[in-house]
Amino acid sequence: MPTGFSREELRSYARGKRAEYESVLEKIVEIPSVSVEPERKPDTRRAAEYAVSLLKSFGATAKLYETKGHPIVHGRLDRDPKYPTVTVYNHLDVQPAEGPDWRTAPFEFVRQGDRYLGRGTTDDKGPAITALFGAHYAFERRVPVNIHFLWELEEEIGSPNFETTIRANAGDFATDSVVVSDTVWVSRSRPACPAGLRGLQGFRFELQTGETDQHSGTAGGAARNPITELCALIAECVDGKTGRVKIPGFYSDVVAPTKKELEDLKKCGFTVKDFKKDHLFRSLRVDDALEVMKRIWMMPTFEVHGLAGGYQGPGVKTIIPPKATAIVSCRLVPDMNPKRIVKLVKDFVKKRNPDVKVSAEHELPAYQGKTTGPYADAIRGAMKFAFGKEPVFVREGGSIGAVLSMERVLKSPVFFLGLSLPEHGYHAPNENFDWPQAEGGMAAFADYFRRLGELKTK
Ligand SMILES: [Zn+2]
Repeated sequence: MPTGFSREELRSYARGKRAEYESVLEKIVEIPSVSVEPERKPDTRRAAEYAVSLLKSFGATAKLYETKGHPIVHGRLDRDPKYPTVTVYNHLDVQPAEGPDWRTAPFEFVRQGDRYLGRGTTDDKGPAITALFGAHYAFERRVPVNIHFLWELEEEIGSPNFETTIRANAGDFATDSVVVSDTVWVSRSRPACPAGLRGLQGFRFELQTGETDQHSGTAGGAARNPITELCALIAECVDGKTGRVKIPGFYSDVVAPTKKELEDLKKCGFTVKDFKKDHLFRSLRVDDALEVMKRIWMMPTFEVHGLAGGYQGPGVKTIIPPKATAIVSCRLVPDMNPKRIVKLVKDFVKKRNPDVKVSAEHELPAYQGKTTGPYADAIRGAMKFAFGKEPVFVREGGSIGAVLSMERVLKSPVFFLGLSLPEHGYHAPNENFDWPQAEGGMAAFADYFRRLGELKTK
């Protein structure tokens, strides 16, 4: 073990760096890099430029890559080309933040004891800066790895230019493995790492049966009603009460969770009560914790997001609309193939209602990570070193497009070392991060790099 790698030594390193950590976090949180808002484009660029100068101040070489949208930042702490290279992925763009629910100004960094408030503190600027401090420690102690940083500024808008940019510069971004720090534990009591992400396939169902609104007294009974027909079609696709998809073959490629995965789920700290509270649900389809976790992380869905058409105003206006649209999507899990699902849905709809036009959009396959092997063991060891408990491997119900791009283009395995907690308010008002997660995170990253150095993967 390189010298200086006891938990106590890392704690004292973090303590010594705390003021510097907070000042860096303050600077970056106060740059409102809201990628979705065109008027924030200069701010988002300013965040990228600040990130380049920050990396350089840590002794890294750093470069800004232009894209059709917001830039990508790449930094390198290179030790020796014969050592393995690990790339830490984070994003420095943030969700919009406004509204009366914010108790402090969202783009003002506020410190309340160990808590740091502000948009981006937990998603994902706090974890990004934490990883940088952990890397700095490992690098100073001459751990035999090259540590690279890949900081995106378009994650919150679905990474539209990420894959083309890393593909065009694949040599610069080459790496032996990737570690992503942009995920949330299930509870503070136990570290959790996702080992899989759900994918997505969106659809629009459109039905036109006439040209204009018609009076239901004059034409009703004979006229086709496109809203009613779409509702009937949707009810044939999915059982509204249970959520069970009724399209034949829909589930045939779903990989069942392993025994170990189910055991991890039982230990992860998830409770139905907190889940309901966090999401303001009055009731759920099921009340068993394991069943809820399976449904949100390991099973596919068929959801109707919106139904448009007809009269939406006050009172009852007795028209028969000429046209209706349903916006639908399926969350996908390993090994479902989006193209196969598109074909299944299109064929099913064609049989049931040939006049309905189906268009597919927004395709993203699911991601299946590894929970065994040397990298997963290194994640386990580093989390235990830092937080005193081995992590559970769970799944994420959502999707991170960049993960699939990195696996595809860089041909490297991707692992997750997230630091955020449910109470940090991802994407919510009063977003926050805290010092215990930052301090533990620095230790976890430093120790992870040390473990990679011992793997001799090159
Ligand atoms: Zn994020």
